[in-house]
Amino acid sequence: MELRLYDTLTKEKRAFTPIDPSNVRMYVCGPTVYDFAHIGNARPVIVFDVLFRLLRHRYGADHVTYVRNITDVDDKINDRAARDFPGLPLNEAIRKVTEKTADQFQADVAALGCLPPTHQPRATEFVLPRADGRADMVTLIRQLIARGHAYEAGGEVLFDVQSMPDYGALSGRRLDEQKAGARVAVDAHKRNPADFVLWKLSSENEPGWDSPWGRGRPGWHIECSAMSAAYLGGERGDEVFDIHGGGLDLIFPHHENEIAQSRCAHGTHAMANYWMHNGFLQVEGEKMSKSLGNFVTINDLLRDWPGEVVRLNMLKTHYRSPIDWTLKGLEESRRVLDDWYKDVADIEPSDDIDPEFLDALLDDLNTHKAITRLHQISPTLRLSEGRLDDWSGDAARRHKKSAALLLGLLPQTAAERTERGRSLTGIDTARIDQSINDRAAARARKDFKESDRIRDELAAMGVVLKDGKDADGKPKTTWEIAR
Ligand code: AMP
Ligand code: ZN
Repeated sequence: MELRLYDTLTKEKRAFTPIDPSNVRMYVCGPTVYDFAHIGNARPVIVFDVLFRLLRHRYGADHVTYVRNITDVDDKINDRAARDFPGLPLNEAIRKVTEKTADQFQADVAALGCLPPTHQPRATEFVLPRADGRADMVTLIRQLIARGHAYEAGGEVLFDVQSMPDYGALSGRRLDEQKAGARVAVDAHKRNPADFVLWKLSSENEPGWDSPWGRGRPGWHIECSAMSAAYLGGERGDEVFDIHGGGLDLIFPHHENEIAQSRCAHGTHAMANYWMHNGFLQVEGEKMSKSLGNFVTINDLLRDWPGEVVRLNMLKTHYRSPIDWTLKGLEESRRVLDDWYKDVADIEPSDDIDPEFLDALLDDLNTHKAITRLHQISPTLRLSEGRLDDWSGDAARRHKKSAALLLGLLPQTAAERTERGRSLTGIDTARIDQSINDRAAARARKDFKESDRIRDELAAMGVVLKDGKDADGKPKTTWEIAR
């Protein structure tokens, strides 16, 4: 089956054809590093990690280049630096804030089973022309001015939106509508109220770089045009790359403006061939916000939940739909993973992925359907439906290989299973299995006092035993975590 992806620009699901199959190129907007990343920020990171893994599976691990930037210049960072390190010179304080936050982000997303992207450029390293000749922001801005798409006014360099006939195509906002509806006061120095900042002058206590337009700092959008060109600009001068992603709040103005800058600077028909946007996440039915007190950081969540539970919970919903993040959902995801871990812990994964599972992912990353398929081929479900007779080891082996693509990893060996089982439930699964065997032995010798004692001991640990029968009608005891 072919890979099909929904493109926000053309508003259709299309077959994905890479420009160069030996180097499939993807860019995703990364975090602004001034505070802990929240669970909403985790969504694009997880979603595009699944796409990265799928592309690697399809085109080969060495044939995919994934760039996710780190925004380490932003007025929010300056404010945080001044607040948290009032005694330090601003530049030092900024470095402390961004380094600490970026390290925390890397640790958080690694715990969510995400592969590191091929390149993770930091904006501050791409402001001025570079020794290695990779694209930079100042050079891009000069190109835009030279080509008549930008002008200097009022201490800023601005992009001239009217110089681009189809400005607004991604978000569907037309310039004349924007003008009519403009409630914001028009800055007198702008030719058009929609013109946006490429460069602005810095005061003495703001970070700045010396540029042809004075000591200043870049606007937000130009960063991504520079960093994507720096790593995804084709070697044959082909500046268009394959996939650009981010959350749907970035469609306007961020991605609209990235497109304007990159196309006008390079003189190309497109910036990227597929624009992908994940839907928004809310918490227990409400928009997440600090003032509502329902602001959940990845870090908080990882204290209570294993990374793979968070990840599975995120992927139960298709990436373009909104997610309501709930405790109930997390608990359910944990139960599902407990089952899968028990099912496949001691088997070797197969080499091939389950075909129906793969087809679901190839259909615009339908992780919801892919997870449904994993349920179907899970031995636990087959057992509960009395269908264990048609269970084959191959299905379980494929289950394990498939789940690894979605979740990053599953335990490989019995020892790892015990280790991860402990981390998954806070309970030692090997010990539970031992207790179940001891209890079965006690019952076999009719020592019901002992068998009850073992059952109560497990209950005190929060483990509930269920006595049933296996497919051959022999007694079998399973367990679950009481919640
Ligand atoms: P920011 O650091 O705010 O620029 O956001 C980093 C990434 O997280 C962007 O791709 C945003 O679109 C995404 N994002 C932020 N909040 C949410 C949310 N509540 N749900 C889904 N994605 C989000
Ligand atoms: Zn961006």
